[in-house]
Amino acid sequence: NLPPIYIITPTYRRPEQLAELTRLGYTLKHVPNIFWLVVEDAVETTQLVTKLLLKLNIPFAHLLAPMPEKYRKNKVKPRGVSNRNRALEWIRANATEGVLYFADDDNTYDVEIFDEMRYTKKVSMWPVGLITKYGVSTPIVKNGTIAGFYDGWNGGRKYPVDMASFSVSVRFLHSRPNASMPYKPGYEEDGFLKSLSPLKLTEIELLASNCTEILVWHTQSKKNPNAMPLDTAKYNSTNLI
Ligand code: UDP
Ligand code: MN
Repeated sequence: NLPPIYIITPTYRRPEQLAELTRLGYTLKHVPNIFWLVVEDAVETTQLVTKLLLKLNIPFAHLLAPMPEKYRKNKVKPRGVSNRNRALEWIRANATEGVLYFADDDNTYDVEIFDEMRYTKKVSMWPVGLITKYGVSTPIVKNGTIAGFYDGWNGGRKYPVDMASFSVSVRFLHSRPNASMPYKPGYEEDGFLKSLSPLKLTEIELLASNCTEILVWHTQSKKNPNAMPLDTAKYNSTNLI
């Protein structure tokens, strides 16, 4: 009886969506005792996403959390925030133990990181590769605890880390009833982690061999401007040359 991992994946309609979720879904099939919270930034569920979830046969909840209208018109949007807060609400209502992890649909995950994060007592952290011009974002570890952070953009943050770089125990979330993610582009991770306070840097558990290994990458798919979104792609003999 392994502690469950609640994987929180925000996603939204675009040509790459099904490819991203397919890759992530088949990664997750290698991980025992997980529950996948797939939260669409949409007003109705996307049929092909539903079909994929049923086919994968991973325990899941398919939720909806459209980005509030007032943020939609912003040039820099709070991407995935409504989705993640919806998942936190779901966990507060339905989960009692285990750990939660924000796994964006486009990143790349070595399944080892899931084995490691499963036993998080409060908050665990580890490096993320392929992010900013520095190529890596990581806690700086001295004598087994966090002495600082290495990240391409500090922005005056207390926690200059990426969304994919930490997990939180469900019990610890329950002990922080007001914890949530702010609609503040660039400060989503920092705001969420600060909302978990009090939390000492010395309490943060360091994974991936004391942050010396990269097990998660902030990959980004190249957008094909000519691609058709998901189900609008219809092929028949009349449009094939
Ligand atoms: N996302 C979303 N709605 C949006 C844009 C993004 O739900 O309008 C999701 C996306 O699917 C991903 C997460 O939010 O899981 C972060 O978005 P993205 O990967 O585009 O951000 P970046 O990696 O560039 O910071
Ligand atoms: Mn991304």
